[in-house]
Amino acid sequence: MTDKEKKIAKCSLCDEPRSEKYRPFCSKRCADLDLNRWLTGQYAIPVEEQEPDDFDKALGQSHLASSETNDPTKLN
Ligand SMILES: [Zn+2]
Repeated sequence: MTDKEKKIAKCSLCDEPRSEKYRPFCSKRCADLDLNRWLTGQYAIPVEEQEPDDFDKALGQSHLASSETNDPTKLN
């Protein structure tokens, strides 16, 4: 209704005004709820970050394995 109201940032989880202490949330309760979402895997971001890392390691291991096979002198 007023300009001042529009400037109030709202909690990421609910529509309550954010608290400076718990931003971007309104309270410890909402901050805990968000943390719990991360811990229970409801966010997909951590999983997406792991996939390219594992893929890289898999590529590196297969590369090492094949070079050892192709160069028997490295075994001794
Ligand atoms: Zn909230």
